[in-house]
Amino acid sequence: MRAYFTDPLKLLKKLDLTAQQMNFSPTAESQFSFKVPAAFVNKIQRGKIDDPLLQQIFPVQQELNHQTDYQKDPLDEVNSLSRPGLLQKYHGRALLLVTPNCAVNCRYCFRRHYPYADKGHLWKQIKHNIQLIKQDSSISEVILSGGDPLSLADDKLADLLKSLESIKHIKRIRIHTRFPVVEPERVTRQLIETLTHSKLQIIMVLHINHAQELGRDNQNAIAGLRVRNITLFNQSVLLKGVNDTLEDLIQLSEALIKHQIIPYYLHMLDKVQGSAHFEVNEQEAMMLYQQLRAQLPGYMLPRLVREIPGEKSKRPIY
Ligand SMILES: *Cc1c(COP(=O)(O)O)cnc(C)c1O
Ligand code: SF4
Repeated sequence: MRAYFTDPLKLLKKLDLTAQQMNFSPTAESQFSFKVPAAFVNKIQRGKIDDPLLQQIFPVQQELNHQTDYQKDPLDEVNSLSRPGLLQKYHGRALLLVTPNCAVNCRYCFRRHYPYADKGHLWKQIKHNIQLIKQDSSISEVILSGGDPLSLADDKLADLLKSLESIKHIKRIRIHTRFPVVEPERVTRQLIETLTHSKLQIIMVLHINHAQELGRDNQNAIAGLRVRNITLFNQSVLLKGVNDTLEDLIQLSEALIKHQIIPYYLHMLDKVQGSAHFEVNEQEAMMLYQQLRAQLPGYMLPRLVREIPGEKSKRPIY
């Protein structure tokens, strides 16, 4: 934990930038706290205001410009939660929120206002939710989400996997995580053992938005997962000022394939309050995507999608 940056001004000092240059906003910070692992910070370029990694994590004044179509709960998750901590929107899949904690706090996060504490999305809820999964034989895949499920200690994660393993109709576990990218040291030998001792097939969906996030320090972590038969996918969010150029998207796909990570989704931004300055509109997105399609082999092309509350799957934009 000591290797985390939690003070934006300390980060700026390290990067030779000033609060004015960055439009720093303490109010924005107080609405969604600042937290970045040192491994991610090490990949931010010094003195570069528009660095694509810095843009993802730095609390700025633009977050306070509220727009009416940007809401606190854009996917209507809180209301659809008859069962706190368990989201079941799509056929065969249940999404289990296992922790409110993340390795990094991304400013555009659609759960940035999520009332984890008062909705009881905590460890004690999980046992109950596992019972609910057990009672529903239509579920074959459990997606661990949060927060970031790898925030859990290894023994808790092992317990969780064991209880899911005991359910006959579960075939696969999917883990949505940023840890192997932003904090590769989290991928310890013990974690790999825990994951691969499971009888269930493990799929990991990483979240990488820019090629610059993948450095040498990620190689071991990613290879460690891959050689143990964990299938690796990636999802990104299309973000203005981060990855909204053809070149950025091509480089991202190239970097992913080099690490044998399959580009899975390129998400349109969810309209969460405080993130409007990241918006790439649908027309711009489609134009970019057409160009991307003309450049890349099919297997390097993520699916451009938007999440629509109430729909049975993510909606393709192209
Ligand atoms: C995105 C999502 C999933 C997974 O969808 P896939 O298309 O299978 O990746 C599952 N449950 C919820 C609630 C989701 O938002
Ligand atoms: S890691 Fe994912 S859940 Fe956590 S803040 Fe970033 S986008 Fe949100």
